[in-house]
Amino acid sequence: MKKEFVVIGLGRFGGSIVKELIVLGANVMAIDISGARVDEYALIATQAVTADTTDESVLKSLGIRNFEHVIVAIGENIQASILTTLMLKEIGVPKITVKAQNDYHAKVLRKIGADKVVHPERDMGIRIANNMVSNNILDYLELSEEHSIAEIMANERLVGKTLVELDIRAKYGINIVAIKRGNDIVVSPQAIEEIQIDDILIVIGSDHDIHLFEKKLFH
Ligand code: ATP
Repeated sequence: MKKEFVVIGLGRFGGSIVKELIVLGANVMAIDISGARVDEYALIATQAVTADTTDESVLKSLGIRNFEHVIVAIGENIQASILTTLMLKEIGVPKITVKAQNDYHAKVLRKIGADKVVHPERDMGIRIANNMVSNNILDYLELSEEHSIAEIMANERLVGKTLVELDIRAKYGINIVAIKRGNDIVVSPQAIEEIQIDDILIVIGSDHDIHLFEKKLFH
């Protein structure tokens, strides 16, 4: 059975979610208050509707509560984003993901019961900055304010060594949770696993420890 989603707000973020969900084979109802935006998605989304989602009766008449997951991608109009989230919660939508403009917005969204709050611009900024300061950090995913998962390219200092020899956990306090090797992935590598050329280490730890590890081994 196909997954059912609703995307509210068809700016760049909401729009790209609609397109990707369709590529992934999902059914998507795309909604925006602007008819011009909706027209852009008429041939892309499963269904495209012009509506003001701060109006509860509109949400009810569209049968939104029958969808599994609703994404609120209303950007600048924080009031509309909060009101929409509240209405969705009230009508009993099982899963609500909302894009936050700033930390205060995020706080309110969590309080009123958003299941997931995303900060796409902030997160992308963090990822790109990490990639800019180090060519070895290929990707960076924030888990909390202090902890992250990073993808780090192995260098000649690591190649040929086993995890036990490197003793990364004891020395740096970070864990290698997986190793990407070409198209393969070694999940939870054993202590005797030997790092090979072009391996990408997927590590988890505090931001401080990850950066220390990167500094010590790559500079
Ligand atoms: P992006 O950065 O993703 O382009 P943005 O932060 O600039 O987005 P906006 O363009 O402000 O976001 O908002 C996204 C969309 O949300 C707009 O197309 C806007 O018409 C729509 N929108 C705003 N208020 C409502 C509402 N009450 N109901 C439905 N859609 C709305």
